[in-house]
Amino acid sequence: MKVNSVATALLDAVFPQYCLLCQLRSESPLPLCADCFTRLQGNDRACERCALPLVAAAASLCGQCSAQPPAVDRVIAPLVYEPHLALLIGRWKFQREPRLTRLLAALWQAWVTPPADRDLLLPVPLHWRRLLWRGFNQAALLGLEIRARQPQLASLPLRTDILRRRRATPAQASLNARQRGANLAAAFQVRGSVSGLRVAVIDDVMTTGATAEALATVLKDAGASDVQHWCLARTPAPGS
Ligand SMILES: [Zn+2]
Ligand SMILES: [Zn+2]
Repeated sequence: MKVNSVATALLDAVFPQYCLLCQLRSESPLPLCADCFTRLQGNDRACERCALPLVAAAASLCGQCSAQPPAVDRVIAPLVYEPHLALLIGRWKFQREPRLTRLLAALWQAWVTPPADRDLLLPVPLHWRRLLWRGFNQAALLGLEIRARQPQLASLPLRTDILRRRRATPAQASLNARQRGANLAAAFQVRGSVSGLRVAVIDDVMTTGATAEALATVLKDAGASDVQHWCLARTPAPGS
């Protein structure tokens, strides 16, 4: 940790923050006020498998998961990716403010009690060029912060050297999520043993599900027994 970030962490603990959404004082060590917190949208009615926000209240699985189960065993995505959350995540990722990891991990923790049956945490890897630009892998920071906050995850190894992204693959718009996942699987490499392990892949936002599907596919090919995908939020299906 650099001196700067130590100083920031100390200041944050002493002085209340200003809310990133409404600019009023947050009255807490986190830069989000209680009012704006309630504007975030829980992903409460979602597919039990892939966490896609569902429109039909009665269904427990989305159309795609009921037609054909995906490679990923379970997706945890407690929030819907809507404009308020998009602003917070945009500040974190695109304006490169790693200090916001604490806020986002606190949001995750507010909604999720993580399963205690995992053996390994694996952040989604960034291509090295993107890592160079951003200066941090947001999924790795989020994973570390989530683990630090949850006693039942404290002893879990978090490894950033097992998954590798070989090249940035442009998504093909004409393909569905499963086909994109199969396509994208070629971009990921598993280096190291995951044989027989129950893995949680850590991600920020799940959009089409192609990355989750690709990673679950390569991890299972490498012998992982069960692959979950833990992220902050899921985007609703287009047009819903
Ligand atoms: Zn606010
Ligand atoms: Zn589903």
